[in-house]
Amino acid sequence: MKFNPASNIQDLQYFGEFGGVNPSISDSSTYTFISAKTMFDTFEGNADGCYLYSRHTSPSNLYLGEALAAMEGTETANVSASGMGAITPVLLQLCKSGDHIVSSRTIYGGTYAFLKNFTPRFNIETSFVDITKLDAVEAAITSNTKVLYCESVSNPLLEVADIAGLAKLAKKYDLKLVVDNTFSPLSIAPAKLGADIVIHSLTKFINGASDTVGGVVCGTQAFIDELRNVNTGASMLLGSTMDSLRAASVLKNLRTLHIRMKQHSYNAAYLAKMFEADGLKTVYPGLMSHPSHELFKSMMNAEYGFGGMLTIDVGTIDKANELMELMQEQNLGYLAVSLGFYKTLFSAPGTSTSSEIPEDEQAAMGLTDGLIRFSIGLDNDIQRTYKVMRECMEKLNILEPEMV
Ligand SMILES: *Cc1c(COP(=O)(O)O)cnc(C)c1O
Repeated sequence: MKFNPASNIQDLQYFGEFGGVNPSISDSSTYTFISAKTMFDTFEGNADGCYLYSRHTSPSNLYLGEALAAMEGTETANVSASGMGAITPVLLQLCKSGDHIVSSRTIYGGTYAFLKNFTPRFNIETSFVDITKLDAVEAAITSNTKVLYCESVSNPLLEVADIAGLAKLAKKYDLKLVVDNTFSPLSIAPAKLGADIVIHSLTKFINGASDTVGGVVCGTQAFIDELRNVNTGASMLLGSTMDSLRAASVLKNLRTLHIRMKQHSYNAAYLAKMFEADGLKTVYPGLMSHPSHELFKSMMNAEYGFGGMLTIDVGTIDKANELMELMQEQNLGYLAVSLGFYKTLFSAPGTSTSSEIPEDEQAAMGLTDGLIRFSIGLDNDIQRTYKVMRECMEKLNILEPEMV
């Protein structure tokens, strides 16, 4: 049977303590033991099903983790307080002093800053490469390399990683392939294509309400156990645990993710097609003009579409700022970072989310000044939205008025 992430989530059955249709929330930081012996065994990691202390895990966090593991098709998952709280423990768990990482050069600004500025303190070095070129990735691998790191669809340039191709390289050189799938939940299932570890910032599409930060690591039981090990686990020891109340609320939002992703994708595809026809430089993986359109198609669960993210280039940062301010004034969305909200969000990555990346490196990777990143919302009437967006662009001389 074909892998269907949304059906896998739906097929889970949870009951609350009193038969509630939602699982009861574990509103406790610590748990009692009937016998002292069981407490000792639990600390030794030998008492399955016993809860110890909520930084380690909690029933609510396990429910959410189980649903996310079902979505990604991995054995299990560990939820965390933020996306960065998922990414950083994974990399520190996999690498020790002297190790090396090969990473895509177009990744989330925070991840880039971590690899560029922070891990070198621990003598962990990273080579940043064009992830769309498998030969460049292979050439960067050294005898010290432990991890291949990428985003399925990259932030903010929407480059698409050939996950199956990267998985082959990872196998060949005995590396772990870690994929951040934040931009393409449901559409792409990296573990099914050979990724060892799949990470999400739950802050974005998955929670979808822009009311919290959260993250998850999906992987094998053995690796998740390692992360949570009370003596040596980076998640346990660095302490970026999700709160149980929040895990319960993210789980409820996860249940509508498939409906939301279809609408995000539908709306983004419509706008991308119209912007491109208007002559704007538009990047959207669903456009035939996208260099990795065919690759995305070959990897995707088609019903969820090409996602809600697109970029246009309006030439200069001043024009980009003017347009974003005007669109906000017209209530088309918000000038805000982040993504996956019901309302459209837009920002200029060069001066915001990717400002950690030095200017010359931004230029080298094609991150131009006039670039606007859109997270397209759940607008009910996207034609109407497009008309008003077009009027904004005409007013600012970005587009010529349409001839009628
Ligand atoms: C936002 C984001 C992150 C970081 O997640 P937080 O929840 O903000 O910590 C990581 N990767 C990608 C692709 C993101 O968009």
